[in-house]
Amino acid sequence: MDILISGAGVAGLSAAVNLGARRHRVTIVERSSHFRVNGSPIDVRGDAVAITEKMGLRDKIRDQRLRMTESGAFVDADGTVLATLPVAEISDSDDDIEIAREDLAAVLADALPADANVRFRESVAALTDDGMGVDVGFVSGRTERFDLVIGADGLHSAVRRLAFGPERDFVKHLGVYAAIADLPAEAGAGGLNPTYNFPGHMASIMRYRDRALAVFLFRSDPLDYDYHDLDAQKKILADAFAGHDEWRIPELIAAANADAELYFDSASQIHLPGWHRGRVVLVGDAAHAASGLSGRGTSLALLGTCFLAEELEEDDLVAAFERYEARQRTYVRVAQASVVGGANLVVPVTWEDIAARNARFQAAAQ
Ligand SMILES: Cc1cc2nc3c(=O)[nH]c(=O)nc-3n(C[C@H](O)[C@H](O)[C@H](O)COP(=O)(O)OP(=O)(O)OC[C@H]3O[C@@H](n4cnc5c(N)ncnc54)[C@H](O)[C@@H]3O)c2cc1C
Repeated sequence: MDILISGAGVAGLSAAVNLGARRHRVTIVERSSHFRVNGSPIDVRGDAVAITEKMGLRDKIRDQRLRMTESGAFVDADGTVLATLPVAEISDSDDDIEIAREDLAAVLADALPADANVRFRESVAALTDDGMGVDVGFVSGRTERFDLVIGADGLHSAVRRLAFGPERDFVKHLGVYAAIADLPAEAGAGGLNPTYNFPGHMASIMRYRDRALAVFLFRSDPLDYDYHDLDAQKKILADAFAGHDEWRIPELIAAANADAELYFDSASQIHLPGWHRGRVVLVGDAAHAASGLSGRGTSLALLGTCFLAEELEEDDLVAAFERYEARQRTYVRVAQASVVGGANLVVPVTWEDIAARNARFQAAAQ
């Protein structure tokens, strides 16, 4: 089949690798001018590790394994360590692989089929599905016909909007926003990775290899802003931490302001009753975002794209989509249900909650 994939994140790249391996011809369109690989390291967990083995990529992914989370520590306003992170609390098993987003994307991009057609600065603008194929209009003005369109374009998916309806119908805001910025001044510095909390807020330094990141979380009701307006996002972030000169907050906010590729988004989930409509199907965050608080979005993307490609080996498209959904649903349910614990762990609401978490972690370390 001739398949269009919208989005070249983990889901889009993994879909292309899995479908290419089954001799489908894939075209990927990515809105950015390059693979968007910034962001904090992520985990490949549980059954997703076995999927990477099926894809022939497990060893390459394992070769890039990080141990960043193991050096996580919670500090007070003076930087004194109050507790370290018990890794068992957040991993599924010792087989989980923590990896930099850029390293995982590079492994997947290297494994793309030789004839994969990747187009940057391109996006889907219109979809017309006549039952036999989908005519796609692109923002560049180009039009093309495909047998199948896969929406792998993340939380704010354009394919989902065009085929299923507006985001507001499917999104569940979790009351937390996240931002991640490059922190070049800390690159290469060793030591623990400190996290400082004040009620409803978290600021953190994450160092791995020769890189360092400033990571922020804060609780907030849904905010009205333009996803493409970086200056507006920087202002929201600065406002959320305004008046806090303790620990290293001013320097981390300055790094966020200086980063031309700051990642900023809500922790939100997508809940859809079904992920296919005609010849259009969704994968990854576009279908079932669980949010960064689950720590499972990347694993879900790897699992679902492999299931979809396997099921598409049969001719009946609807049956294939339904089997893909049935296999993927269980994983999605677990991931989406896990977020409350995740939020309470990293961004407690009160000073009492912060102290209780630290005491629990101190006890776990004894
Ligand atoms: C820049 C960035 C940083 C992230 N950092 C973290 C993190 O630190 N921790 C964490 O847990 N999760 C993070 N995530 C989310 C995490 O990557 C996903 O939960 C998971 O990997 C599933 O990925 P996905 O491919 O479904 O979605 P995404 O990773 O969101 O990828 C979607 C891709 O589609 C592209 N795209 C979006 N709209 C369009 C469009 N209209 N047309 C074409 N392309 C489009 C995007 O540029 C992106 O490359 C981040 C996502 C992004 C985009």
